[in-house]
Amino acid sequence: MLLKPMLQPMNKQFPTFLEIDLSALESNFFHLKQKLSEGTKFLAVIKAFAYGSAASAVAKKLESLEVDYFAVAYTQEGVALRTAGIRKPIMVLHPQPTCLDDIIDSCLEPCLYNFDILNAFLIAAKNKQQHHYPVHVKFNTGLNRLGFQHDQCLTVANVFGTQDHLRVASILSHLAASEDLQEKEFTLSQIGLFEKINQDFCEILGYQPVRHLCNTSGILNYPHAHFEMVRSGIGLYGFSNDPINHPGLKPIASLKTHISQIHSVAKGDSVGYNRGYVCPEDKSVAVVPIGHADGIGRQYGKGKGQMIINEKAAPIMGNVCMDMIMLDVTGIDCKEGDTVEVFGQSQTAEKLAEGAGTISYELITGISSRVPRVILH
Ligand SMILES: *Cc1c(COP(=O)(O)O)cnc(C)c1O
Repeated sequence: MLLKPMLQPMNKQFPTFLEIDLSALESNFFHLKQKLSEGTKFLAVIKAFAYGSAASAVAKKLESLEVDYFAVAYTQEGVALRTAGIRKPIMVLHPQPTCLDDIIDSCLEPCLYNFDILNAFLIAAKNKQQHHYPVHVKFNTGLNRLGFQHDQCLTVANVFGTQDHLRVASILSHLAASEDLQEKEFTLSQIGLFEKINQDFCEILGYQPVRHLCNTSGILNYPHAHFEMVRSGIGLYGFSNDPINHPGLKPIASLKTHISQIHSVAKGDSVGYNRGYVCPEDKSVAVVPIGHADGIGRQYGKGKGQMIINEKAAPIMGNVCMDMIMLDVTGIDCKEGDTVEVFGQSQTAEKLAEGAGTISYELITGISSRVPRVILH
């Protein structure tokens, strides 16, 4: 959805909305890009609706900035980007055997991670008479999620050597703890194993595909492991796992709502379902039109989360409802209709998530489709 920027802070049409600032996206892109050597390619990870923001608007912006590659998790996410007019190469990180024809029909590029998917894709490419169709081969170096094992790499390389329907455009692996410098030794062992696998694989393959290993934290913490390409998701959306050292990243998404009603509730009275909050003294309570159906789950209830009203923090009172949340606005100068920031500039998604024991990735990707996306250009 593409809308004009809003002039007034409260949007009359949308009581609750997620504002996406494409100029912050641009600035994050260049901030990350200047960490790379000349010629290192930049892949933008835009799975899960660009981490819950607005995939086609984000992809169009990044395409205009000459990003090299995109990645999505599933085929249908890639098909949607093609339908939106995206032309750059799109990698599908986790293709399913039922979607292989769709991958070829939409010119998407699969990551092949086991023999089932490799053989099935080879058959699909053959049936569609493809020649040197670009694919990506994923190896497991310690995350123990998707990927071929080191001891399979010769067999994999031999499969490629005996046909010309497919061409290995890149080889990749994924780091398990690139954000955690306590795990540096483990990460260095992953990097070493990736290099070894690459050598063994390419010796049989006979050519050197692009190598890529680093996610955002890898880009920031392991500059010697950028290889020919890096993959960034969370950094583009404005977060690093070490915000103190990376003030150059700005959150692109701000979740805003407003006050629907304010009550005075007397000492001893309760607020919300299950009487989840009992007032220890007289309280002012503000109701906001956002709830767990919008992606602010019950784990933010009972004071674990707060929202910002006129620069003051208002804690969540009692239980989060499906469509509403009650905030403690006692002592805060506010009125019905005032804007409430759930996360954004005054309170980062990282900070709100932390209060409820989770991470920015989960909070931002979980904002439901009921919340309109408003794009600021
Ligand atoms: C999601 C994902 C990324 C992006 O990681 P960030 O930490 O968000 O930068 C990179 N590579 C793979 C394989 C992924 O699944």
